[in-house]
Amino acid sequence: MSLPLPPAVDSMWAATAGPYAPNPALDGDTTVDVAIIGGGYTGLTTAYELRRADPSLNVAVLEAREVGFGGSGRNGSFAMTVVGLGFSGTAMIKGKDFLVQAHRYMMRAVDTLDELVDNEGLDCDKIRPGFLRVATTEKYLRRIRKEVDLMNRLGFDDIFYMDKDDVRQRVNSPVHLGALWEPRLILVHPLKLVRAERDLATRYGATVYENTPVLRVRRGENFDLETPSGTMTANKVVFATNAYSHFFPGLKRKQVPAFTHMLSTEPLTPEQLEPIGWQGREGVEDMRNLIHHYRLTADNRVTMGGGPVGFTWGNSLNADHRPAAWQEVESHFRVTFPHLRDVQFSHRWGGPFSVTMDLTPAMGFLGDKRAIYSLGCIGHGVSMVHLNAQVLRDMVLDRESELTESPFVGRRVIPWPPEPIRLAMGLAMRSYLRLEDWSRERDLRRAKAQVHAHQPPPAVSAGVQK
Ligand SMILES: Cc1cc2nc3c(=O)[nH]c(=O)nc-3n(C[C@H](O)[C@H](O)[C@H](O)COP(=O)(O)OP(=O)(O)OC[C@H]3O[C@@H](n4cnc5c(N)ncnc54)[C@H](O)[C@@H]3O)c2cc1C
Repeated sequence: MSLPLPPAVDSMWAATAGPYAPNPALDGDTTVDVAIIGGGYTGLTTAYELRRADPSLNVAVLEAREVGFGGSGRNGSFAMTVVGLGFSGTAMIKGKDFLVQAHRYMMRAVDTLDELVDNEGLDCDKIRPGFLRVATTEKYLRRIRKEVDLMNRLGFDDIFYMDKDDVRQRVNSPVHLGALWEPRLILVHPLKLVRAERDLATRYGATVYENTPVLRVRRGENFDLETPSGTMTANKVVFATNAYSHFFPGLKRKQVPAFTHMLSTEPLTPEQLEPIGWQGREGVEDMRNLIHHYRLTADNRVTMGGGPVGFTWGNSLNADHRPAAWQEVESHFRVTFPHLRDVQFSHRWGGPFSVTMDLTPAMGFLGDKRAIYSLGCIGHGVSMVHLNAQVLRDMVLDRESELTESPFVGRRVIPWPPEPIRLAMGLAMRSYLRLEDWSRERDLRRAKAQVHAHQPPPAVSAGVQK
């Protein structure tokens, strides 16, 4: 018996992270105090936080594949303060009080990751270059001004408006018309980070089993976690399974996996890079609902991702490979950096992120206080889950803290309906967001048509992906 997981993705991060030796799988039966299912940032740093708080606890992490198989090993690498659909979107869905609390939480999350990497010496190419949310049309420019005003009015004074000249001086592109500038952003090599966190958790005394899928969790006096080659018995269980949480019946309706896709160029030459500038290596996102994000890596590749989001029937995970999504991202790359029209993409990949019905992350107890879950970061988990790990630690240790009072904890999670309504709702949500983007992008469509008039439309070859 095995979990219906697709093959590992052939990402640029996997190609550049260096050699890796996975830990052995669980072999035989064993007993621990706390079993953590999922070897991504959430699971591994929860193990670290628990062992740091109480070195007498016996803590194990069980990962179905190698650590970082999920979003943690293949993401866009933006550790940012954004939560949900941006500032005004969050205020509209959840209210301004929620936005204030959520933004404070996310600021702290970015700093938590920053300090973790520095204090523990994690090797992950971390930089703190600042965040540009660029406007690519006049309508987005107006939206940016509103976003900056909203946050400044709410008392956040480290979010600024940047005009066209200033933004182009940083990252030169004909489609950059202005930006929201927020200094608080970290970029990392995501796979190096999650691997370093495996070693960190191990160094602090947790055991990390790889290639150990948990096939079933039986709840009794204790929890029995069945794996192909042994059963782990635990007093408490943490489900750190994010976009894969639907494998467990109690979590099945709390989130659905949605899919996002990325590509990476070969390293750019100094001549290719020079017209863009990008001396500060800022992380860039546009103002769309279905955002594009791009950055420059340590070895001068450009990664770009985002655009169309995919949903699947019955939460199938077979959507990492999606040529239409890569084609859309490539088209956006060509209009953003027209002088790079001949640059080739060395890697294309994708993966699932976790979406709750109200687009808001959630942590909570499942059944009773012995089972704890974390999910729903909708593509914004890199910073957030590092602070979530401290929340999960307090929940496991049955501590009430300022962190367990956060608005993401213990909230009612609206259940997704069963198929076929579930898929129809996902697609309807996407269509609405896409229509809003379309209505704001007339000038950009014209620019794209002009760029593509001078070059053939991008051809995406199938079979690049494993
Ligand atoms: C292509 C892509 C780009 C993204 N870009 C960004 C970005 O730039 N910024 C940002 O903030 N967020 C981004 N995200 C989202 C971010 O990666 C996630 O929010 C974050 O990594 C979640 O971490 P996690 O540890 O909770 O989950 P994951 O990293 O997904 O870890 C969950 C783990 O659980 C394991 N698992 C599942 N079921 C079982 C089981 N039954 N038994 C054992 N193990 C199991 C999985 O194999 C997986 O490794 C992106 C996601 C994707 C896919």
